[in-house]
Amino acid sequence: MKIQNMAVVFIIIILPISILLSVYVKGEVEVIKRQNKYDQILSESTYDAVKAFKLNTVNNSRSTQADSIRRDIKASINSFINSLVTNLGVSGYGTESIKPYIPAIVYTLYDGFYIYSPTINLETGVYEHIIKPYIYYSIRYRIDNYNDVVINYTLDNYIVVYGIVNGNYVSRAGYLENVTDISINGSQVTYKGTVITDETAKQYYIEAREFTQWINDNLAEKITPSNARKIGENDETYPEFEGNVTDRILNITGSNDPQREDSAFNVHRREVIRLILQDNLNSAITSYSANSEALGTTYNFKMPILEEEEWNRLIENVTMITFMQGLPIGNKYYNGYSVVSCPKNKEYISVDSIYYINEGDSYYHRIDCPEIVNENTLVGYKNIEFERKINSNLGEENKEYIYEHEENACYYCIINSNYESQPLTSARIQAQYNAMGRIRKELYKRGDDLNKD
Ligand SMILES: [Zn+2]
Repeated sequence: MKIQNMAVVFIIIILPISILLSVYVKGEVEVIKRQNKYDQILSESTYDAVKAFKLNTVNNSRSTQADSIRRDIKASINSFINSLVTNLGVSGYGTESIKPYIPAIVYTLYDGFYIYSPTINLETGVYEHIIKPYIYYSIRYRIDNYNDVVINYTLDNYIVVYGIVNGNYVSRAGYLENVTDISINGSQVTYKGTVITDETAKQYYIEAREFTQWINDNLAEKITPSNARKIGENDETYPEFEGNVTDRILNITGSNDPQREDSAFNVHRREVIRLILQDNLNSAITSYSANSEALGTTYNFKMPILEEEEWNRLIENVTMITFMQGLPIGNKYYNGYSVVSCPKNKEYISVDSIYYINEGDSYYHRIDCPEIVNENTLVGYKNIEFERKINSNLGEENKEYIYEHEENACYYCIINSNYESQPLTSARIQAQYNAMGRIRKELYKRGDDLNKD
């Protein structure tokens, strides 16, 4: 072929292709840029919402009661949507015009979760975003007509049990602890060989032992994951648990210790919470997809596949997860979500969420800090108690901050988190067991009143 002919071929075929390709690549780059920008906006807005939630619960003395939590969540959602609208500002989205792109928001709390998603509002008959009724981490175990119970799990070792046990109706609630770890001798209570000195903590260990003994005597040999049934569905089983007929999840012993992450109890508890969350979230998003025309969109909303690490965060903390889908970005649609945890909350405590003060020291610490001055006087409190609060008695104009504890945060273990962790001495272990027991006993729990009759 002559050079001239080749040039003609190049101009006619190759040139248009390469022009198209470069336009396409430019478009793709634009899509990726917008996708990243929206990811960032979604994540920032979710952080703002969690911050608002934390602030409200710190300042709200009744923040563990149902209608009060709903109010805090409503405020947090408003903060999320406002932040989203502000950050997306340039694209000209208003509060109402952004909502159709939010198929669901979830708040996982101590013993259940809230889903905020579009549905028919039964009071007004309007299809709109509402906070749906609270869903507990509950599952039913049906063995036979004489043993058929619902167990409500939580983010820790506290459970609520109600239903038929040995043919009688029961409703009980309590913390599960390995009974052989707790000894009671007259007024002396020891936990794992350490004497408990705090009176309220003693009560915690005595009650946990009594409750766990009752579980071991009445349910331990009966309940396995294969007995699990969906609540409300007539005897519908969980295919995920069907094959598991051997795990005695409620036989609480040293080898099935609720304090251990890998115990059969904890493995099953986490699976239950995840399944219930997944089922409900999936059905909320699918139902919106079928009805989204009511809010002016026809996007095919879908539950994304979350990563293992994200599920773990959802299951182990008070956490917020937000979904945003269907916003046009170039020739595609945005589809993203954001998971943000709130480790400082009023709902429950983990070993890590206790800070300690001690005599002759104006700082509060973590239990393994080398800067603790007098370890024989250590007393632990919930981390959230060290947050500043607004004194609501003084009104808006005279706003002032108050602190429950006067101590300041230790630079090494709290602020910088860069310190050499000390092995726990017996005095520190005692302070830890005292604090865990006392704080757990003092926390408000649904089901606290169940054991009184
Ligand atoms: Zn410290």
